[in-house]
Amino acid sequence: MTGAQELFIALVVLYLFECVLVLRRDVIVFRSLGFGRFRAIPAGNLPGSPERALFFSMPAPPLGGLYLTEQSPISLSPTGISTRRAEHFGCESEALEPAEFRSYAKIEQIAADGPALKINDEIAERLCGPVAARALAAEIDVLRNAPDAAGRDRLIERALDARFDIDAAAAKRETTEREAGTLLMLCNALCVYLFTIVPLVVWRSGLDGTWAMLLIALAGLWGSIAAEFVRVHRRLDPDASADRRHRFAIICCTPLSAVRAYEWLLRERLAAFHALAVAIVTCEKADAAALAGAMLRDLEYPCRRAAAGVAATSIDQCDASGESELRSREDENAEADEAAAWLRSRLRDRVIRLMRRLELDVAGALAAPLRDDADSVAYCPRCHTQFVRQVADCAHCPGVAVRAFENVVTEKEPVEVRS
Ligand SMILES: [Zn+2]
Repeated sequence: MTGAQELFIALVVLYLFECVLVLRRDVIVFRSLGFGRFRAIPAGNLPGSPERALFFSMPAPPLGGLYLTEQSPISLSPTGISTRRAEHFGCESEALEPAEFRSYAKIEQIAADGPALKINDEIAERLCGPVAARALAAEIDVLRNAPDAAGRDRLIERALDARFDIDAAAAKRETTEREAGTLLMLCNALCVYLFTIVPLVVWRSGLDGTWAMLLIALAGLWGSIAAEFVRVHRRLDPDASADRRHRFAIICCTPLSAVRAYEWLLRERLAAFHALAVAIVTCEKADAAALAGAMLRDLEYPCRRAAAGVAATSIDQCDASGESELRSREDENAEADEAAAWLRSRLRDRVIRLMRRLELDVAGALAAPLRDDADSVAYCPRCHTQFVRQVADCAHCPGVAVRAFENVVTEKEPVEVRS
């Protein structure tokens, strides 16, 4: 193998690393392969570790687009903020973890530091990107300055309406993709140039007489992408100058990063909207309906830890000081759960409203699934996993009771998951 061939293989491997995204499990990816409609891919279904998922984005032309949305890791209520999630779609195990509740009076400082949300100068949560972190920090800042709970109630309702505004999401998508059309073309051109034209020229004519011309063409395309990225980013998001500088610096590092510039520009553009609103404006109706049904079931049959049982058992084993600490922790968990339940009911109302607007079958989404075969005797109402023996709770959805199919005689036996 020649030196040029080794260099080319190294470039391809490095580029493929550029195409891998490490995502939180609560993220929902909307991916287009460059031919129009997007597909919703919950990170919970992707390979990876229990906390992080690996997503491989489209490496070759026409490259396509990518939008990321996430379910908020923090639940806002009129009384305070809770680290218990209202939605556990894709991150079910988090329902088993202890949660914290903080009243607005205890929040002295709130800020976003990159993707991290800082409360009183401590990192409280990490979000999918700086745009989402800034939006959440701004929302909490407004809430903590509101005069009373009634005012905060109205503010949260208004913010939720904005998250589910499909007309605004459609307009933002249209503006983004129109403005970024030239950038997409340049990224495709650079990808073709690096991985097709350069190898062909080197193979046929060698590097000796061609390297200067190849380098000039590369610099032209690379520089055009950097300049176009800054122009479009400034036009779409004039206030995000720190993000712009950060991305610009990365694009300037290698031409491989420059090929991904269009994807970077799109990633967080719809992060302020609920995943269902993004699905409706980007996906086929059948995909949006499937996501809507799964999200509605997540809100209707939420994952939860058996708090009362855990507390009772643990308190019995504690001494007096440990008991009071445990009780206060359980009280805090109860407040956190209450705040999440408050938000969950409002999210559920909006998901149902959107489904009705799109003439989707709400009752059908909550109904029992069709039995896989005659052996199936029970199902999970949340994830629709089917069981061949009756069990208490679903193995995938903590705290969600399994239901028997109608007209099926069952016996209580150890769990055996069918799908
Ligand atoms: Zn389940």
